[in-house]
Amino acid sequence: MPTTDSLKRRRDDQIGDDLHHLIERLYPICRSITGDGVRETLKILDEFIPIEIREIPSGSEVFDWTVPDEWNIRDAWIKDSRGKKIVDFQKLNLHVLNYSVPVEKTVKLDELKEHLFSLPDHPDWVPYRTSYHDRNWGFCLSHNQLLGLQEDDYEVKVDSTLQPGHLTYGEYFIEGTSTEEVLISCHICHPSLCNDNLSGIAIAAFVAMALRESELKYSYRFLFIPGTIGSITWLSQNEDKLSNIKHGLVLSLLGDSGKFNYKKSRRGDAEIDRLVTSHLKRERDEYGIIDFYPYGYDERQFCSPGINLPVGRLSRTPHGEFPEYHTSADNLDFVRPESLAQSYDLLCSLIQELESAEKYLNLSPKCEPQLGKRGLFKKIGGQSNSKDSQMALLWALNLSDGEHSIRDISEQSGLHRDIIKAAVDALVEVDLLKPLFPHPSHEERE
Ligand code: ZN
Repeated sequence: MPTTDSLKRRRDDQIGDDLHHLIERLYPICRSITGDGVRETLKILDEFIPIEIREIPSGSEVFDWTVPDEWNIRDAWIKDSRGKKIVDFQKLNLHVLNYSVPVEKTVKLDELKEHLFSLPDHPDWVPYRTSYHDRNWGFCLSHNQLLGLQEDDYEVKVDSTLQPGHLTYGEYFIEGTSTEEVLISCHICHPSLCNDNLSGIAIAAFVAMALRESELKYSYRFLFIPGTIGSITWLSQNEDKLSNIKHGLVLSLLGDSGKFNYKKSRRGDAEIDRLVTSHLKRERDEYGIIDFYPYGYDERQFCSPGINLPVGRLSRTPHGEFPEYHTSADNLDFVRPESLAQSYDLLCSLIQELESAEKYLNLSPKCEPQLGKRGLFKKIGGQSNSKDSQMALLWALNLSDGEHSIRDISEQSGLHRDIIKAAVDALVEVDLLKPLFPHPSHEERE
C-alpha cells in the first residue's frame, strides 16, 4: 500500500476533545424521527460542513411505509398534589416517552403507572422509550423513583404536538473525480444519548470535514437521517443514485471504550467487507467481525434484498451488549475523547485504503487468454520463484474483475504483493490488463 496519506485528516491531540465537544453541544437537544430537534442538530452540523437539509412531507409514501406526522415538544412534567414537579422534561429529555401525544390531566397512581417506564435491573437509570406507531403518552423515570411514588393525585402534562409536517434529514455530497460513490450514513433520531447516535454523527461530520479538504477519487455521500424511516425515505427517493454506490458504512456506537466490531454487508464478500476485515486483522489485537443479520441500524434497509448495497456497519461495542444502551447512562461520561479519536482515525484509514486501492481490469476475461503466445511464461520463467510467478499471472487475471485490488489478490492467493504486482505489470505490458480506478465510468463520461 502506498505510504503517502492523501487525506487531509487531523493528526493532532485535540481531535478527541473536539469530537467530544460537539457531542456536548448536541446532547441536550430533544431529537426524534421528525421535528425541530433534528433541524437544530443539522443547523449545528452546518457550522462544520455545508449540509443540505431536506424536508419530506408527512403522508409521503416511501416504499411500504408512510412518512409520519411531525412531533415537537416544548415541555412535560408530573406534579404531585402539592404542586411539586417530580419528573421534569427540562432536566432530562429522556423523561418523556418519545413521540408522546399531548396530555393534560390529573390521574391516580394506578393510572399513572400504566404510562411509566423504568429499568428494574438498573434502578438509578432512566430508560429511553419511543412510541412512534401507537399514539400514547408516557414518562420514563428511575426505578427507585417509581418505587417511592405514593397514592396521590398526580397532574401530568405533555406539551407536545403531533401533526402533519415534515421528516427532516441532512445530506452532504463531496464530488470526487469518479461518479462512483462511498456512502456514509448515521442516524440522528435519538435524544440525549451519546454513544448511540451522537458519536456517529460527530465522527461523520469530522471525517466529512477532512474529505472536503482532500483530493478524492471516489465521491462521498454523507447521510444524517432518522433511523429506519429516514433510510427508507432516502432510498425510495434516490433509487436512480444507488448504482453509483460502490461501498458504504453505517456508523454507530463509536465512542465507548470497547473493541471495534464490523458487521458485514448482506453480500458478505463485498470489497468493503474484505477491506475492513483485513484492516482490523492487520492493525488491531482485538476486534470482532459479525456476519450480516436483518436487525440493527440502517444497514437493515441498505441491505434489504431489493436494495442490496455493499454497506457494512462500523461500531465498537454492539447495541444491546452494554448495559448503558438506551438509558440515561449513555451520557457524556460514557463516551471518551480517546475512543472517539481512535474511531475517527480508523474511518480515515479505511477511506485512505479505499482511495489508494490498486485495481486492474482483465481485457480478455472469457476463458484464460493464451499466455505462451505472448511470451509471458518465458518472461517470468527465469526467476527462481517461477511457479509462484506463474500462479500470480493466473490469480491476477482471474481476480482483475474490477472488484479486487492487488492487496485482495495477494491475500486470496497467499502470494506476496510484490509477486502479484510483477505479474500485473507484465500483463499490462501485453494489454491483457488495464489499470482501473475506481471504474471506467468517469473516463467514459469525459
Ligand atoms: Zn438506538
